[in-house]
Order: sequence, then C-alpha cells, then structure tokens
Amino acid sequence: MKISLEKLIRKETDKLDINICETIDTISYAYNEYKVDSLVNIKGKVLRTDKGFYLDTDISFTIIDNCSRCLVEVKVPIEYSVKGFLIKENFDEDYFEDEDAFLYDGQEIDFLSIIEQTIDFEIPQKTLCSEECCGLCQGCGANLNTDICSCDESVNNEEDNIDPRFAKLKDLFKND
Ligand SMILES: [Zn+2]
Ligand SMILES: [Zn+2]
Repeated sequence: MKISLEKLIRKETDKLDINICETIDTISYAYNEYKVDSLVNIKGKVLRTDKGFYLDTDISFTIIDNCSRCLVEVKVPIEYSVKGFLIKENFDEDYFEDEDAFLYDGQEIDFLSIIEQTIDFEIPQKTLCSEECCGLCQGCGANLNTDICSCDESVNNEEDNIDPRFAKLKDLFKND
C-alpha cells in the first residue's frame, strides 16, 4: 500500500489523487494483531501546500475482534479520515505544533504505516457481539448465548469453586 510522491516532489503536479483498494492480512496495533476481513479502501488526495505535503484521505476496512464477554469473533467496521501534513523524521516540532502530522520517508507514503499510526482511536475499547451478550458461564465455560449451562444445580454449593476445566468432568461423573 505504498504510493510514490515522485510527481509532487518533481513539481509535475500540485495534487495527487489516491484511490487504493487492496488486500492486507493483518494490522498491528499495541501488540495486538487484527485480522483484516475486507479490502482496505483509501480514497483522497495529497496536496502541495506552502507548509509541505498535505494528506487528506478517507480510510475504511473491517477487522475481526473477539467479543469481550463470550469471545466469539466479531466483524468490526472501521471508517475514518486521515488529514494532516506528511513529515520526515527530523521535522521541526514547533512548525507543526497545532497540526496533525504523519511520518513518511520523504519519497513515498506507506499507508499500512499511516493506518498503524492512526488506528488507536478507531478500534473500540470493548467489542461486543451484541449489547445483550450473556457471556460465558464462570463455572462450566458454556457460551450462555447459545448453550445451556450445566452447573445450575451446584449453586451455593462448595463445588461452585471448582476449576472450570474440571467442571465438565464433574458432570460426567454425576451422570454415571
Ligand atoms: Zn458475545
Ligand atoms: Zn455453567
């Protein structure tokens, strides 16, 4: 997902249109790797301004996250705008103090890097498969949205504290 800025650098144009529609497998953010479940769409432009190259794009794609209650995979659509100056590593911080700015190598924009620099506010803190998700049973690990919990009988029993990994075994013995 790299776009060369050669035409802008050589002043052959003042505006570079961006229209990307590409497959990528994963996006990394804060030690997490998210599977990408759609094409990555990036539309917009890069403009030459008095202050430098200005990136103005809309980005959209879908990631796979896990429901924080029941752990099933959930598709999470991500859609946001990236607007700001393109800056090289040795940029003058004061100059861009009040502006959004994104690092690039001076030659081309790597949109995977742009996404990884900007996605932190876009990924939900907590993903749920539905607001009403019942989660997993603490005792037997059953998904309470789809399965019937098998440990109701032991409520208020000492056995309540049993390790969930053994809960299923316990039920096996009970049936014998
Ligand atoms: Zn859920
Ligand atoms: Zn249970």
